[in-house]
Amino acid sequence: MNKNRIEIIKTAELSIDKGEYVLYWMQQSMRVNYNHALNYAIERANESFLPVLVYFTIDTAFPYINKRSLFFMLEGLEEVKEELTNRGINFIIEIGNVKDTINKYLKHTMLLITDKGYLRYQKSIREECFGLIDKNYPNIRIVMIDQDVIVPVNIVSQKVEYGAYTIRPKITKMYLDYLDFHNLKEVENKTKLNYQNIDIKFLYSVINVDDSVFKSEVFIGGYSQAKKILYDFINNKLNYYLASSDPGLDLTSKLSMYLHFGQISSLEILEHVLQAISNKQIDKNAGDSFIEQVLIRRELAYNYVTYNKYYDNFLFITESWAYKTMNEHANDKKEYIYSISEMIKLKTHDIYFNAAMKEMLETGYMHNYMRMYWAKKIIEWTPTFEEAYNIIVLLNNKYFIDGRDANSYAGIAWCFGKHDRPWKERNIFGKLRYMNDKGLERKFDINKYINRINSL
Ligand SMILES: Cc1cc2nc3c(=O)[nH]c(=O)nc-3n(C[C@H](O)[C@H](O)[C@H](O)COP(=O)(O)OP(=O)(O)OC[C@H]3O[C@@H](n4cnc5c(N)ncnc54)[C@H](O)[C@@H]3O)c2cc1C
Repeated sequence: MNKNRIEIIKTAELSIDKGEYVLYWMQQSMRVNYNHALNYAIERANESFLPVLVYFTIDTAFPYINKRSLFFMLEGLEEVKEELTNRGINFIIEIGNVKDTINKYLKHTMLLITDKGYLRYQKSIREECFGLIDKNYPNIRIVMIDQDVIVPVNIVSQKVEYGAYTIRPKITKMYLDYLDFHNLKEVENKTKLNYQNIDIKFLYSVINVDDSVFKSEVFIGGYSQAKKILYDFINNKLNYYLASSDPGLDLTSKLSMYLHFGQISSLEILEHVLQAISNKQIDKNAGDSFIEQVLIRRELAYNYVTYNKYYDNFLFITESWAYKTMNEHANDKKEYIYSISEMIKLKTHDIYFNAAMKEMLETGYMHNYMRMYWAKKIIEWTPTFEEAYNIIVLLNNKYFIDGRDANSYAGIAWCFGKHDRPWKERNIFGKLRYMNDKGLERKFDINKYINRINSL
């Protein structure tokens, strides 16, 4: 692993008589493959011939958690458990807040390794846990690994970037140093630790979360699904990716939800895509345009949520020119006003918006171009910009399997001018970029999209 991924949160001398195992608190990276933190835990354990214990907690207070996101996560965790067990690695699942559930596992470890979380809640639970260790277990060393991006966020840049054009040269210059592909080491001590574990199958029915959003019938969670989708994408779609902004063509990867739950790493995706380009299986321009999304645009979003600590507060999400123009157009007359419930019931006059909503409600996913169109329409039909923002965030995080992500906040902020530029001034939107149905009809075979969604 590139050493820059390692953040030593707390130093303490490692000594074998201080612990019975090495503890890896898995939270962001719910995978076995290309999990540097897990590999690091195995290396440290092997040095002292100790077993590895992987701990995961299902936090029912996690913002926006519901049946859809929970089931997708559990499907992934079932595979993680099986894979770890096959490798002789202990895996324990708890339900509840980390600071209440990790305590008994801290007592017997000499070291805590964890993966990095990028959003406020993820950071706060880590800080609580580290505080607990500081207070009660001064001899435990804490190491955090930044592994759900290609280049660690603080290495790429130390400030909020203006846009893809400012972060692209920085990432391009350094990302080759972070292609730290690896095979997971074998753990030498496979002792089965005596902790009672929960049967994941049992959890589907007992965990009490918002059940107003049902499980996606289209997408199943887990690494093997992610891999299947990745191979299908590379073999059948990637060569045509330059045309993928057309929602009718269905040419994108649909990997965002697997990336969101850390069920596959962007590093593994990039490895396969680079290989396909170098084998000439994939046209370089097509491959590069996908890399622009999965590397540059995605990591721009991580930069945004890292350096803008108010990334989800409407008053701080975008640039001053955008606030100025929104203020100037705050009282523009709006031809249509729809409530959130009318939108959910697909009762707007706009068939494209209704189709996009249907895709979101029924599958938990929406095509990128339709996400932009959908959010712009909510801005157009809601009394104020701030109300529109709140509705978009709510729907986004409740219904998308990939919601509650750095990409969610950056994608929504983009609709309000962030990482974009001023456009020709017009009613309601001012200088924010405007989108309309005529644009969809002119650019794309949009009826194909409508037919696909209608047939769901
Ligand atoms: C209003 C709005 C809301 C959005 N909400 C989310 C969200 O909740 N979660 C989410 O993951 N993405 C979100 N996005 C970004 C983007 O729409 C999705 O990442 C993309 O549509 C996922 O589909 P895919 O995996 O098939 O994409 P592909 O085209 O196959 O791209 C591959 C990967 O690249 C990354 N990527 C693609 N487009 C973008 C982009 N515009 N910005 C940043 N990264 C990108 C994603 O990780 C994606 O999985 C949002 C965009 C907008 C405009």
